[in-house]
Amino acid sequence: MAEHESLEFGKADFVLLDNVSLEEFLANLKLRFEKGRIYSYIGEVVVSVNPYRAMNIYGRDTIEQYKGRELYERPPHLFAIADAAYKAMKRRNKDTCIVISGESGAGKTEASKYIMQYIAAITNPSQRAEVERVKNMLLKSNCVLEAFGNAKTNRNDNSSRFGKYMDINFDFKGDPIGGHINNYLLEKSRVIFQQEGERSFHSFYQLVKGAPESLLRSLHIQKDPTAYSYIKVGGHIKSSINDSADFKAVADAMKVIGFTTEEIHTVYKILATILHLGNLKFGNDGDVTLIENSKLVAVLGELLSTKEENVEKALLYRTVATGRDVIDKQHTDQEASYGRDALAKAIYERLFCWIVGRINDIIEVKNYDARIHGKNTVIGVLDIYGFEIFQNNSFEQFCINYCNEKLQQLFIQLVLKQEQEEYQREGIPWKHIDYFNNQIIVDLVELQHKGIFSVLDEACMNVGKVTDEMFLQALNSKLAKHAHYTSRKLSPTDKSLEFDRDFRIRHYAGDVVYSVLGFIDKNKDTLFQDFKRLLYNSSNPVLKAMWPEGKLSITEVTKRPLTAATLFKNSMISLVENLASKEPYYVRCIKPNDVKSPLLFEYERCKHQVEYLGLLENVRVRRAGFANRQTYPRFLQRYKMISEFTWPNHDLPSDREAVKRLLQGCGFEHDVAYGKTKVFIRTPRTIFSLEEQRAEM
Ligand code: ATP
Ligand code: MG
Repeated sequence: MAEHESLEFGKADFVLLDNVSLEEFLANLKLRFEKGRIYSYIGEVVVSVNPYRAMNIYGRDTIEQYKGRELYERPPHLFAIADAAYKAMKRRNKDTCIVISGESGAGKTEASKYIMQYIAAITNPSQRAEVERVKNMLLKSNCVLEAFGNAKTNRNDNSSRFGKYMDINFDFKGDPIGGHINNYLLEKSRVIFQQEGERSFHSFYQLVKGAPESLLRSLHIQKDPTAYSYIKVGGHIKSSINDSADFKAVADAMKVIGFTTEEIHTVYKILATILHLGNLKFGNDGDVTLIENSKLVAVLGELLSTKEENVEKALLYRTVATGRDVIDKQHTDQEASYGRDALAKAIYERLFCWIVGRINDIIEVKNYDARIHGKNTVIGVLDIYGFEIFQNNSFEQFCINYCNEKLQQLFIQLVLKQEQEEYQREGIPWKHIDYFNNQIIVDLVELQHKGIFSVLDEACMNVGKVTDEMFLQALNSKLAKHAHYTSRKLSPTDKSLEFDRDFRIRHYAGDVVYSVLGFIDKNKDTLFQDFKRLLYNSSNPVLKAMWPEGKLSITEVTKRPLTAATLFKNSMISLVENLASKEPYYVRCIKPNDVKSPLLFEYERCKHQVEYLGLLENVRVRRAGFANRQTYPRFLQRYKMISEFTWPNHDLPSDREAVKRLLQGCGFEHDVAYGKTKVFIRTPRTIFSLEEQRAEM
């Protein structure tokens, strides 16, 4: 077990701790962190602590050390897990996935990039041009996605504000031939608002600070981010980020990936449109709502390739169908501002999804015929937002934390529950390990008719004005008895909760208070049809293609679109199904402190993360358990040459007996247990040694 590592660096695998206690776990984690050993194992799970400094452990020579080796031959590393996932895929034709979890700033995105780099580095030994092209595009796609989907937050200068799952497809030789990206819930509210000290998405600053003069002129954009109200809300426009250099890198990446010049230009026009929208001001003149800085309307018309008067009309009026009549109803200035913000958010979100879609068009597997080339296998990499507890928690945090409940449930199912069930099934003596099963919280959120999402959807379905408070009342009456739900009405003495505003969920990772303000609005996610029509009628074909539903006239729009909660829930359910169908590998990321220091190991912060990631339970199950298991026939097939009793064939009454005899002969009796159909091997060292003996034959 990483025996080359001396104990001065602590235990490389937490399974080897003398006592499995929180204190020992943390002491070991801290020692390793301080000695610059940022990776450790719990069996096959990688535990990673963000070093907050450049580490010289990702280069070519390190890659060579891990390539094709067994997990336990080398010190813990992301490369080892990437290699294990790759080997399982290649040797056994299995789809695998690597699930990376941890809170904001813990190092998930960096880890996912190192994993991809590793896979790119070890594949395609014959340097096939097509495979090189695919690899290059997969790597370049990160740069584009980060520009549009990441932002500086108070927790992380490059925080992913969307969830990402990326499949890499391999051919029968094990070389990448394509990929596919799924994106989840972009935090689009950031387009119009940022907390103090935070920024909007990088893309805006990159454009304003990095675009050449001529481009800026054509977009009517000044080279000054403070001129645009949408992106200066958080006040933190200066930062260590080099937006100007990033602009060039992203433009270059879009070109390499294969975006056309027209497409790239449309991307810039959309960013500029949003910046100008943010500066639009509405006022009123008696009964009439008007746009105060109407010059901007002409600019918007130009950028959106549509008539100025159409832009103005869409901003100020709403077409409504009353019976058979269709009338134009004027917005109040408040409604107009609301509509403008909704438009800005919607076009950014649509742009982001379009970018992902374009990347997918380009990287998807082409010309692969499984009948000729054999099965095309997949490694999936999931880099998704970690658990969030902010000062103010809203609909977005609610969705994100629900996502983490789902992933924890998957982890429980795969790592804890299935493992224990298999031992029982096989009749292996086993002491049950207790762990908290969070299914009850998953149900609290997603159960049909009873869960919070259902209550929210029902509230949004009501005709007439439904307020956020009414939604909270509905929750209170439905969930009064639920052990993981409370509110001020239900526990009147709890001063940390505001009446008519807050509810609290006891998540597996801790308590979170959510404010219901904005839940109804964000869930309905209304964008006036007038805007969709406006954009669909643009003479810019790229823009038009982003808004197909604008084709419908007001009288044709009958179906209510799915709510944001339902869409998110469905996407989470299918994500989990997808992950569950693959062989999973886990990377659990820990953030050592809140000040981005390479030296500081904040004990309480780390303790909390170790607790809620369930790492201790993980160690316990793993320790009580067995690293490896194989059916008797399969075991014999692989190792029968080691023993004279089994080579070339055995004459014992059963394969089980034969395996027993073989293992006794090697002196591994103490390290194994014999189940009904499988042999269980406790430590990987035994397997390793069997492999060595096999190789020597
Ligand atoms: P979020 O949920 O906000 O997206 P995250 O878990 O994806 O957070 P990262 O963006 O991967 O976090 O990491 C945050 C920062 O920590 C990085 O920008 C980098 O400065 C540092 N960091 C993370 N991992 C490493 C590493 N392996 N080596 C050096 N620095 C790292
Ligand atoms: Mg990230």
